[in-house]
Amino acid sequence: MAGARAETGDVVIQAGHQGRPASCAPLHVRACNLGTSGANGALERDWTPIVADAAARILRAQGYAVIRRPADYAEHDSARAAVFLHFDGAEPCASGASVGFPPSARSEFVSEWERRYRAWFPYRFVGENISDNESQYYGFRKVDAPDKMLIEFGEMTCPAQFAWMAPRLHEMGERLAAFLIHELPR
Ligand SMILES: [Zn+2]
Repeated sequence: MAGARAETGDVVIQAGHQGRPASCAPLHVRACNLGTSGANGALERDWTPIVADAAARILRAQGYAVIRRPADYAEHDSARAAVFLHFDGAEPCASGASVGFPPSARSEFVSEWERRYRAWFPYRFVGENISDNESQYYGFRKVDAPDKMLIEFGEMTCPAQFAWMAPRLHEMGERLAAFLIHELPR
């Protein structure tokens, strides 16, 4: 692919798995992970854009330049922060919320999100970098930013967590936006 464009903004918000499977072949993605799913056919790749778009809308209204990305894209971005949104799937109720980040991430950025999310999410916070998919997430390599974090909001395969999260996707986006505004003072 010749000359992938670079974009610069305040924050990159990626909706995990959004656009797959259609985006995998044209962008030569071999591990085309379609994400998890929950009750009634709900798909992770349908939930992540709802949260991402809610956060992007609020940030843009506040004057932030938001680069909103799906799972696969050619560009390499530059921003003050980047967040990659996911929901987990597991042996039912073996998991919960978690975060992933590269070694370069500021610990204050991660810990502030954890503090806020633990205070709201009434289920288990599993931990940090609990898998290679989190600690070595491919999206981290697609952006230059001092703060990068993959967020797993909870486990879709756990009926109780699913039922709690389903009506709160917009509020998740609002809380993510509030966190980013706090971390990225204008
Ligand atoms: Zn995912």
